[in-house]
Amino acid sequence: MARWSVTATSPSSSKTPHADGGPFYRRYLLDQAVSLRARAVSHARYRRLRDHLMRGSVDRKRRRWRIFESLTVLTANDGCCVYCGRTSQTMDHVIPLARGGADELSNLVPACHACNNSKNDKTPVEWWTGRWLKGSWRGKGTPREGGWSLDIKDAGLRELYLQAHEQTLAILGCIDEVLAEIEGEERASWFLWNMPFEYPSSFWTADMCRHWYASRIEKGKADGWPDSRPDHLRK
Ligand SMILES: [Zn+2]
Repeated sequence: MARWSVTATSPSSSKTPHADGGPFYRRYLLDQAVSLRARAVSHARYRRLRDHLMRGSVDRKRRRWRIFESLTVLTANDGCCVYCGRTSQTMDHVIPLARGGADELSNLVPACHACNNSKNDKTPVEWWTGRWLKGSWRGKGTPREGGWSLDIKDAGLRELYLQAHEQTLAILGCIDEVLAEIEGEERASWFLWNMPFEYPSSFWTADMCRHWYASRIEKGKADGWPDSRPDHLRK
């Protein structure tokens, strides 16, 4: 069989897109938009169509963060993921964009890739509670026995839920503390005046700046985020 005949009927080409606004239809329209761009019909027209399609989607256009803003978030909580304590790699929207969360610093905490991906578009309460309850019944569980967790063996659903509730409150407390740190005025002002104001580029990413300025950030922290505003801006 010739190689090209295998690809002649791909599963996606046999489907007919429906105008129900579902993900498949959106994908189809997006492909149309991309082919518009490929044909260079009109860049403005392509952009209008793309923006229209992306509205309400999880992958809608996000705000671009300046380097100092990214560093304000990434280095909070001692540069560790709020959820697991490993080194932070990304900024996580506490209330996901897809759930109406704001694209603001007051909704961002440092997280690692694994936690950010696992949390996805869940709220912290849904994610953390689900995480604790997940896999608790293997095989022959009943609501009153059969659950297992790190601390309580053979617990019922109620005990397990109470434990999940406690753990969730603990993680919410951590999030609150880190958000307070990020929004702290002196610290935020220090980052504004001491870290690059530019948007990240391919040769100057936020991650590179984080390593480059690590000792300066350490010193700023040790000195209690001294007022670094230019003289004419001080009271
Ligand atoms: Zn993590």
